[in-house]
Amino acid sequence: MTLQAVLDELRERPGSGDLIPVIDPATEEQIAEFTDGGAAAVDDAVARARASFEAEVWRGKPGNERAKVMWRIADLIDEHAEDLAQIDSLNTGMPYNQAHMIMATSADIFRYYAGWCTKINGIAHDIQMTGGITGAHSTMHGYTLKEPYGVVGLIFPWNGPVFNACTKLAPALAAGCSSVVKPAEETPLSALLLMRILGAAGVPDGVVNLVTGYGHTAGAALTEHPDVEKIAFTGSTEIGKCIVAASTGNLKRVTLELGGKSPVLIYDDADLNMAITMAAMGIFIHSGQGCISGSRVFVQRGVYEQVVEGIAGIANSLQLGGPKDENALIGPLISGKQLNRVMGYIDEGKRDGVEIVTGGHRLDRRGYFVHPTVLAGVDPQMRLYQEEIFGPVVTVLPFDDDDEAVALANNSDYGLAATVWTREIGRAHRLAKRLQSGTVSLNCQMVFDPAMPFGGYKQSGWGYEWGREGIESYLHTKAVYTQL
Ligand code: ADP
Repeated sequence: MTLQAVLDELRERPGSGDLIPVIDPATEEQIAEFTDGGAAAVDDAVARARASFEAEVWRGKPGNERAKVMWRIADLIDEHAEDLAQIDSLNTGMPYNQAHMIMATSADIFRYYAGWCTKINGIAHDIQMTGGITGAHSTMHGYTLKEPYGVVGLIFPWNGPVFNACTKLAPALAAGCSSVVKPAEETPLSALLLMRILGAAGVPDGVVNLVTGYGHTAGAALTEHPDVEKIAFTGSTEIGKCIVAASTGNLKRVTLELGGKSPVLIYDDADLNMAITMAAMGIFIHSGQGCISGSRVFVQRGVYEQVVEGIAGIANSLQLGGPKDENALIGPLISGKQLNRVMGYIDEGKRDGVEIVTGGHRLDRRGYFVHPTVLAGVDPQMRLYQEEIFGPVVTVLPFDDDDEAVALANNSDYGLAATVWTREIGRAHRLAKRLQSGTVSLNCQMVFDPAMPFGGYKQSGWGYEWGREGIESYLHTKAVYTQL
């Protein structure tokens, strides 16, 4: 499916609300517009999902057949990786090569969860009971059943449209749920191609239903819908709290993958070349628009100057550009709104006397480009230290020992992904225990595998995606007792 076909289909999508523009963030030009689906589209989509769930067209299939479909989805994502990457890079501004790499990971999420389709089992319990109503000794056989929740709403953000969709769709499908999918209003394009891929792979009609629209209209209607059993959400902590509040009507299950302010600890015994390179890329790649971006770097005092200089040097050497720019490593921010937000934090820092080691300005060209920015002399009370900026902005502070490093790192409402660079292996593992973070990376950064659970401490989230925990979050556990 070519880009033009996607644009044509988007234009035809049903809706009765406002027109929503789709903007190329590298040029600020409008690529397309579409009608907000709003609550009406959500009602239709939930009804279709419910009908497919009740008819058992998907959850009733044997696990091995569901697994075959999941493998076909993965193969088709690989086959269409160029188209998908072209669409996502145009829509998000991410360099094409990076968007293409992410497609391989997206396909692998389906391959990983394909394996789970045949392994969704409860466990057996031998029960010896005295007491109960009769007071007699009784022997019972107990077992648990794992059953799909039902209709689930999958709401995700703009920073990696195909990847975010696959992260939720793969476990939901493996579990046997039917779903309603809502991509971000900024990036609806690749979801249309993904829907075609699901259909071509053999996902029956009605099992996955796409709704396009704004968050406060379509997203809110999905979250409030009385016939939806669960919402899986990735996005900001602020909206995550709205989702929790809106879900109380029918007490939906909610899993949340939210913001981060992830710490990177660099010790003086670390492989500094590697640590500096990864710390720089860990914040500047994708212009810092990743929930796991390492936006707070802490450096042991003896090597502090060297690390600050190193990260700033990389910041200055990175080529920024749009998807058509083959040499570009860093793209623009997603929108004018996001640009203003990021610049607002930087300008506030300047007013408060923060040292701008490098960057601190947008590029003098069209597109929402911000120069990779390194800030020093930051007070941990400042908003730009505490709040998620979601831009290419890193604060660097020195520390002396483990206790200080841990106190600084844990001084945050977030707890998503921490990194430690040190050659002392015992210290690395001690720190892994002390850091309040859903993921800790030791001498590596930005490495993730679908088999490992991903979730946040504190206000970075509820529950887990990926791994066994990821599929469990779409399954009820039913307890069955049998008198023997
Ligand atoms: P970001 O700050 O990364 O743009 P948001 O949290 O605003 O992320 O949005 C992430 C996703 O949540 C998007 O698909 C958006 O449309 C949706 N969304 C925004 N507001 C709401 C809401 N009130 N209810 C449900 N979904 C929402």
